[in-house]
Amino acid sequence: MAKNSGPSCRLCRREGIKLFLKGPRCLGEKCAITRRDYAPGQHGLIRKKESNYGTQLREKQKVKRIYGVLERQFKHYFRIAERAKGVTGVTLLQLLERRLDNVVFRINFANSRAEAREIVQHGFVYINGKRVDRPSYTAKIGEELTIKTKEPMAKRLTELHESLKDRAIPKWLEADPKSFKAKIIALPTREDVGFPIQEQLIVELYSK
Ligand code: SF4
Repeated sequence: MAKNSGPSCRLCRREGIKLFLKGPRCLGEKCAITRRDYAPGQHGLIRKKESNYGTQLREKQKVKRIYGVLERQFKHYFRIAERAKGVTGVTLLQLLERRLDNVVFRINFANSRAEAREIVQHGFVYINGKRVDRPSYTAKIGEELTIKTKEPMAKRLTELHESLKDRAIPKWLEADPKSFKAKIIALPTREDVGFPIQEQLIVELYSK
C-alpha cells in the first residue's frame, strides 16, 4: 500500500498542529512542533496569510495526514460520502474512522495509526473469523474483530494495551482486550474524531 514516506514530524510542522503520528513520543519534550513551531524548510518562519483555497487545502492535507491516506484514496472516500445520505463532511470522517487500521488504533493495540497499519498488513487481524490484511477495509456495524497472534507478539500487545489504558476507547467500539477482540456496535459520531477538523472546508474544496 502506498504511504507517506517523509519524516512524520515535518507533516505536523507543516500543518501547524500536533497530528500525533509517532505515539508516546508525541507527548514528550522531543516533539518537534513543541521545539520548532513553524513550517519546515527555508521559508518556514515566514508566515503568509492563507487564501481561502489555501485554508481549504491545508484542512484536507491535515485530515489525510492524520489517517495516513493518500490523495487518490481520500478523494474516493469523499465521493462515497458525497453520494451517501447525511452530511458529507461527517460521513467522510466516519469512513476514515472505520478504516481497519484506525479501529486497531482506537482499541489501543497500537501507539499510532502507522503501527496499527503494520499489524493489519502482517495478517494478525481477522474480521468475523476471516483474515483481513487491508488497512483500508471499512469496518461495519456488527462485525467482530480479533487479533490472532502468538508469543512474544501477544505479550507485547498486552503490555502496549496496558500502557495505553488512559486513552479512552470510543463508545462505537466494544473491546475485550484480554481476548484480543472488539466489536463494532455503532457508527462513529463526529465527536469521536477528537481532532479540531473543519470538514466543511474540505467539502468546499472538492465542490469547486
Ligand atoms: Fe507530530 Fe510531535 Fe508526534 Fe512529531 S512528535 S509526529 S511533531 S506530534
